[in-house]
Amino acid sequence: MAISPSGILENVLQIIAESGDPELVLDRIVTYIAQTCHIDVCSVYVLDPSGNRLILKATQGLEKSTVDKISMNINEGLTGLALETMAPVFVINPSKHERYKFYKDSGEELYSTFMGIPLVYHQNILGVLVFQTVEEKTISRKDIPFFSNLATQIAATVAYTGLLENLKLQKKVTSEKPGDSRESSATKNFLKGLSVTSGFAEGEAVYSRNSIGFDQIHPKQALDVKTERERLEVAFRTSAEDIKKIIGRAKELSMEDTAILEAHLMYLMDNSFKKKIGRHIDQGECAEFALKKEILFHMEFFKKLNDPYLRERASDIEDTGKRILGHLLGQTNHFVEKFEKPVILFASDISPVDLVNLNQENLKGIVLSKGGKTSHAVILAKSFEIPIIIGVKGVFNVIQEKDHVIMDASSGIVFRNPPEEIRKEYDRLKSEQSKAFDKLSVLKNKPAVTTDGFKVTIGANIGLLSDMDLVDKYGADFIGLYRTEFPFLIRQTFPSEEEQFDLYKRIVEKANGRIITIRTMDIGGDKFLNHLDSEKEANPFLGWRSVRISLENEDVFRDQIRAILRASAFGKARLLFPMISTVGEVRKIIEILREEKHFLQKGKVSFDAGIQIGIMVEVPGIIRILDRLLDSIDFISIGTNDLVQYLLAVDRNNEKVAHLYNPLHPAVIGTILDVIRLCRQKGKPVCICGEAAANLACVSLFLGMGADCLSMNPASIPVVKNFIRELDQKNLSEMLGEVLKKDTAEEVQAFLSKNAFFHEDLLKSSFF
Ligand code: PEP
Ligand code: MG
Repeated sequence: MAISPSGILENVLQIIAESGDPELVLDRIVTYIAQTCHIDVCSVYVLDPSGNRLILKATQGLEKSTVDKISMNINEGLTGLALETMAPVFVINPSKHERYKFYKDSGEELYSTFMGIPLVYHQNILGVLVFQTVEEKTISRKDIPFFSNLATQIAATVAYTGLLENLKLQKKVTSEKPGDSRESSATKNFLKGLSVTSGFAEGEAVYSRNSIGFDQIHPKQALDVKTERERLEVAFRTSAEDIKKIIGRAKELSMEDTAILEAHLMYLMDNSFKKKIGRHIDQGECAEFALKKEILFHMEFFKKLNDPYLRERASDIEDTGKRILGHLLGQTNHFVEKFEKPVILFASDISPVDLVNLNQENLKGIVLSKGGKTSHAVILAKSFEIPIIIGVKGVFNVIQEKDHVIMDASSGIVFRNPPEEIRKEYDRLKSEQSKAFDKLSVLKNKPAVTTDGFKVTIGANIGLLSDMDLVDKYGADFIGLYRTEFPFLIRQTFPSEEEQFDLYKRIVEKANGRIITIRTMDIGGDKFLNHLDSEKEANPFLGWRSVRISLENEDVFRDQIRAILRASAFGKARLLFPMISTVGEVRKIIEILREEKHFLQKGKVSFDAGIQIGIMVEVPGIIRILDRLLDSIDFISIGTNDLVQYLLAVDRNNEKVAHLYNPLHPAVIGTILDVIRLCRQKGKPVCICGEAAANLACVSLFLGMGADCLSMNPASIPVVKNFIRELDQKNLSEMLGEVLKKDTAEEVQAFLSKNAFFHEDLLKSSFF
């Protein structure tokens, strides 16, 4: 038997996670096993609740109509023999065997081999897994270890997920109450969300402090005023200690400005604030609700003030309040404490700022009940190489703090307190994956060139100085995007020109001769700066964001431009402007740039006078008038993350519409093709940037369009390079012709997955 058990369990789990109806699940499992192992028949017989009879519950190969009809005593037939002896039974020409029992209409007479293996988990007999083949040679006694191993894993999996229990129960319930549709509990120990990265992680579950807000705090009578006051006192004290520690860590992250945190500290030290909360407790409120009352009152008060600076303080108060609340609720403050052991963080959502604060060795994985595929938190998690799963519904009902959790980010599955068998299986998968990645690492210094010689330049998208290590590790040709807003997310004020220059110079030097594309700040959307005078917007991605903010805060923008220009003297920097939606914006930017260059020249400050400038094409409207802009800029970067969201009107951060966020939508494909064609006509270099650049289905289309530059998350580079090196560009451009005829993203996906080059493992690393 040439099959390896590798990945079978993972796929079986995937099937269980995807389908709620236990009978359907079992049917899909046997079909999958039969197909994967090239076996004619795979059947599952389940021991009924009385423990006396085996019932055929699912089959691939036998007549489906016999499911639930074929049933035997445990001392009957070859299937019963496997159970009786509690050992695998392998027979050639089963009809000649003394224990053979013929079942009319099953079609069994066709098969010349029989293998039955007991399904046992922790001494619980679940049933028998049966394999049959037409050809005598297809399986042999030598395959018993393989199938036994498979049966052990399947038994553990179905027992753990409660699948067989559900089958039995379902029958019972159906016979008692016809038509009653009972909620399946098959998924009680594991959950499925959306896969956005690869990798596995294991650790203790911790909830994020931010996952509990004041909206979840309701009035509750204090049992004892003294105790509540003491709790409040302790929560204030520990919160203050937290802040002091964060201030220490912020320095470690080279973010010197600690004023926000100092403001938080001030509230915590303010006795009158505490006293006011104490008064609510004296009136009989519990500490949590007393805190909520006072925090909400203060927030309202500050929000009404005219002074924008003071108005902003409302968010400081909310943050401080949440911190105290976290302590009252007994949550460890994960924003400060170093995790002492490996943990998986569970949150409804997470901001890029929190993620920067949380990133540390023991943070092994992140599971969000919300989240978008291309949210900046996901992008950051990728750059920190932390597996993340998003959109896991009901996660807080299933996973409790301190549960032991395994997460398989590639399949989007989260396991709660998994049994030994599943843990072992995941250890094996993990080591296989790391071996596969090690193999890919030999590509580091090889070019991304197709079999017919089409060369693709591969860029890295980065956000922090430390990401430059990943650029080296994964062998990027250049840096296609450096998001300058990331290092400044937790600051109180905009960084000065000097501070920025210092950072940009270091990063340009670290690029070590590679081109580095520095993008001016793309604040707004899901990246809020605490110090900006911005009220909460109804549609932040359509609002005050990115270059719009820069052009309204011209001094700040000019500081950044000067800092980048000065850094350009130390390497090969390029300047990139995000979210361009009008020709006027580009004209204004060019004017500012000209003035700032002139200013530096006058001051005899060195910079690269020929620095290239480019714009991000991510607002669809600009594409219609792109031809008017191309002469005044040097290059184009297609920002697929935003282009998809704006083109399809699908918020990239909203899990409710995540299924609509699809770069394979024909409108997206057609639009990107238009941009590439236009740039080619005008001789302008164009690079495809964003998460779609690492999506293998998209990569095949982009190459078919003739795109010769892709910039992506560094960790995706080896897989994409390996993929490109197996492709033939001419075939891809023919294939693109067919794809352009498709009407829906699903049709495109289905068409692509029929292509030989999309073998299963590759598609797994394609996250859409
Ligand atoms: C994009 O929009 O595709 C992009 C690369 O930029 P960001 O994800 O930072 O918006
Ligand atoms: Mg963008």
